Amino acid sequence: MAIIGIDLGTTNSLVSMFRNGQVELLPNEWGEFLTPSCVGILEDGTITVGAIAKERLITHPSETISSFKTWMGTEKKFLLGDKTFLPHELSALVLKKLYQNAREALGEEIEEAIISVPAYFNDHQRCAIRLAAQLAGLPVKRLINEPSAAALYHRCATMGEEQRLLIIDFGGGTLDVSVVDCFENMVEIVAISGNNRLGGDNIDQAIADYFCEKTNLTWNSLDMKQKRQLLALAEKGKIGLSKSEKGCILAFQIGQETQSVSLNREILAKICRPIFQQVKEVIAQAFRDSGIPISEIDDVVLVGGSSKLEIFVDYLEGLFSKRPTFMERPDQTVAFGVGVCAGIKQRDGNLRDIVMTDVCPFSLGTSVCNDIRDNNPHMAILIQRSSILPARHTERFFTLSDGQRCVDVIIYQGENYYAVDNLRLGKLSVTVPPDKAGKQWVEVTFAYDINGILEVTAQGSGGDRQHTIILNPQLNWSEEEIAEALARLNTLPNRSMPQEENLLLLSRAERLFAELSGDRRMEAAHIIQRLRQMLQSDSQIRMAREREQLRQHLEELEYWVQRDIWVDDNDEEDLL
Ligand code: ADP
Ligand code: MG
Repeated sequence: MAIIGIDLGTTNSLVSMFRNGQVELLPNEWGEFLTPSCVGILEDGTITVGAIAKERLITHPSETISSFKTWMGTEKKFLLGDKTFLPHELSALVLKKLYQNAREALGEEIEEAIISVPAYFNDHQRCAIRLAAQLAGLPVKRLINEPSAAALYHRCATMGEEQRLLIIDFGGGTLDVSVVDCFENMVEIVAISGNNRLGGDNIDQAIADYFCEKTNLTWNSLDMKQKRQLLALAEKGKIGLSKSEKGCILAFQIGQETQSVSLNREILAKICRPIFQQVKEVIAQAFRDSGIPISEIDDVVLVGGSSKLEIFVDYLEGLFSKRPTFMERPDQTVAFGVGVCAGIKQRDGNLRDIVMTDVCPFSLGTSVCNDIRDNNPHMAILIQRSSILPARHTERFFTLSDGQRCVDVIIYQGENYYAVDNLRLGKLSVTVPPDKAGKQWVEVTFAYDINGILEVTAQGSGGDRQHTIILNPQLNWSEEEIAEALARLNTLPNRSMPQEENLLLLSRAERLFAELSGDRRMEAAHIIQRLRQMLQSDSQIRMAREREQLRQHLEELEYWVQRDIWVDDNDEEDLL
């Protein structure tokens, strides 16, 4: 029985494990390591997760969803066809798919999974991840912070001298920054900060906004399909500019007209400035919390897909006056790290000595009043953010009024002075013997473990003792509710692999049809027709060769989609 690691990303998810003395990634049904975190619903009502859903983002915008991870821990409803889903249900579908693929790749049962989460996820968001795992039937005991996983992998990969690192994980939807001390076999997270709504998606949106501004289009007047199409175009331009210094032209067809806007690194840097500014603030916060000056950082390590953006690396170089180090495959580093964590959990001989300590991302406390007239309680912090985990603290709070019989301990997470401005996690009520104000008390203990689970105990001076493990009340579902959700999510199709492949190719051809124009568009149309026939047929095996031909044809068309946006086409090789 194996332990696997899962990097459940906003854009892409990966599965890893530790075996034969090293960490490795497990491929999905297409033989790929990255599974797009996209969910779609097909015409027949079945749900599709991964590559097929990603292909359908543009062509079936009302039936496909991506980037829902940024909404984890909220009650935001996503409409998929005529069904609604909550963010943790969508994540459950992704986890279920990863679980299924991992079991197939391994050919054995999975004992446990460790999931990485953004370091800056609060309690509600972490609970939502756990609930998603539960809905996916995935046995998860341990969560690990994404940048901590990256630090762990970096340490294993380098194992050099003592180092103080700044790790920046800039992905599709989240940014995590951590200050890490590495020495001997220790990986010590010193401070973390982040922004759960900042990533490559914001850059795509900023490019799309720029496009609208230049062409007098209004973003809100575009329909959903056009919005997705423009965002995809923006992402293509962005990725192209990170690979090549040449400028490009983004051309977008609206009705009969084609609007175009040129883009180069300089313009992109200007567009991204406000986003990079926010990144800088997050970095500054990490330094403030760690109490370590920038000059003491030995190395800045970049992970996450968005760190491949050349102008981002340039910007950071300007900030630190030195070139950051780039992990070889930055969008896989976290997954490798979770795999190392799985190896440690398995007590693998190669890793047994490595020890990692992590810190608390947010402060935890309870609301208190200075006197009875005080009607806006403030935070009394029991566990400061950046405390080393596990953390534990006890404090006494005294009664406020004469004859008071009960003390409410309301539990909050956050950094704001007024308690109500923070995230409320729960409440305990403890009885105390009636007495003069300030004579009786409640002793409150907060214990926060490495998985970000908070246990609160409150003991009254009269002996009344209350205890709670904090779970998000909205997500603290009853067994029936979970069973109901499970039944709803149990709609994964059971198509044969050739049929799945036909469907993937069809979705891809449909997207290319939307993106191409002229003759090539007609080629895409023919492929669509043929694939539709093939999907109806019973003799899939015989069609293997034709399928391969169609796949290659689509590959060629894909090239034209890329090429069409480039200004200088003498030098197109490096775009491939
Ligand atoms: P997550 O961990 O959030 O799932 P990833 O680390 O896989 O995300 O990063 C995905 C993001 O990286 C997307 O916004 C994507 O557009 C961006 N990205 C991927 N490759 C490049 C590139 N070469 N240049 C710039 N951005 C890129
Ligand atoms: Mg990531």
